[in-house]
Amino acid sequence: MSMLSNILNGIGSLIFAEECIICHEPIASSLHGVCTKCRYQIPTTQYWLYEENPVTEHFDGLVPIYRASSFIFYSTHSPWRNAIHNFKYHNAWRIAYNMARWYGRELKSSGLYDDVDIVVPIPLHYKKLLKRSYNQSTYIAEGIARELGIDYNSHLLYRRRNNPPQARNKASQRWQNVEELFAVRNAKRLQGKHILIVDDVLTTGATICSCVEAILRVAPDCRVSVATLAVTRSIERD
Ligand SMILES: [Zn+2]
Repeated sequence: MSMLSNILNGIGSLIFAEECIICHEPIASSLHGVCTKCRYQIPTTQYWLYEENPVTEHFDGLVPIYRASSFIFYSTHSPWRNAIHNFKYHNAWRIAYNMARWYGRELKSSGLYDDVDIVVPIPLHYKKLLKRSYNQSTYIAEGIARELGIDYNSHLLYRRRNNPPQARNKASQRWQNVEELFAVRNAKRLQGKHILIVDDVLTTGATICSCVEAILRVAPDCRVSVATLAVTRSIERD
């Protein structure tokens, strides 16, 4: 290989240091993990533009939710589904963070989330956190909070039991498993606040409902909103 092609390859690997998480083509690191073509094809819901949308309707009658939305649809065989599924593994927290910032910019521009005070991720049990080394929802919270220009807090809530993954359970079992699953560490910090709970995927919403109940039990005067990165095409109710 000539010296010139060595130099060109070196420059290329510097510019195209990453690959697109969706199509796996090499991309510049300035694109934050998703190439321009895939950016245009992302299956967004646009729910964040509307006070009432299928996600807010889903929570109607379950728990009092002030605002709720999801960024993209979580469809079978979608490469976006795989990308979000992989958040939990392979140290893919940076992808979760970058997508969350993208979503955070959309939430900000909608104007419906302007008075959120604090972003709170759904916590993992400490044993799971030790095993996995990070909580993907914390990075989602960090990305969204940064774009909204507010703080996130991953210590306000904690998980009281180390439940098996909900994905393995039937929808009806999920509701039983999450009963009083969460507790609040510092209720004073939540009084009168508008809290945005964030998670990766909304399937039944059972885990989120349990979080909302835990918050409203100790801080009944606060408003709770929900933002998830993805939502299944048909949200399971039971
Ligand atoms: Zn791509």
